[in-house]
Amino acid sequence: MGQRRRTPAASTRRHRYAVIRVSLATLVTIYLLLFLAVVFLFWIVGEWNRRRRERRSLQHRFRCVICAFEFEDRTDALLPRCPHCGSLNERFRMENI
Ligand SMILES: [Zn+2]
Repeated sequence: MGQRRRTPAASTRRHRYAVIRVSLATLVTIYLLLFLAVVFLFWIVGEWNRRRRERRSLQHRFRCVICAFEFEDRTDALLPRCPHCGSLNERFRMENI
């Protein structure tokens, strides 16, 4: 009787330990994944902000098609005039610097 009562108690205790160990490993995995997700999210947001800033800084910059002079035009003119050679330029978006 005594032996029978002791055996299930020991097995439940061992079972509880196993559950705690598994949940700890799961917790560590979840923490790692969350940390990686946060780092990835910050990286994506930073990259997005950098691209937006770059695009905004290049919004008013033009390169003359005649003399390749780079200039800035913040007016609403349809054809901005090149200050170097005086030719009219179409509003092309500059892809990069
Ligand atoms: Zn020019």
